[in-house]
Amino acid sequence: MLKIGSVKWRGKCSRHPKFDPYLDGRAAIRNGCEKCAALCDIYTHHVQMLALMRGFTPPQNPKRRTPGTADLQASLFGEP
Ligand SMILES: [Zn+2]
Repeated sequence: MLKIGSVKWRGKCSRHPKFDPYLDGRAAIRNGCEKCAALCDIYTHHVQMLALMRGFTPPQNPKRRTPGTADLQASLFGEP
């Protein structure tokens, strides 16, 4: 069994603090900056990991209401 807790992580390039791998993409990396490239790699691997997890166990469907509640509500309005 594998357990992974929720991870909150922030990374920012000190030379290009406005660079966002999600919005800008790898093509926006200036002068081959290693930090910005590392942010792109981390983002890419994160997306791949989420896809692998979703493929392993698809999200559960929400519980359906049990049939019969509508009938109970209707009986309040005078039906015999
Ligand atoms: Zn950078």
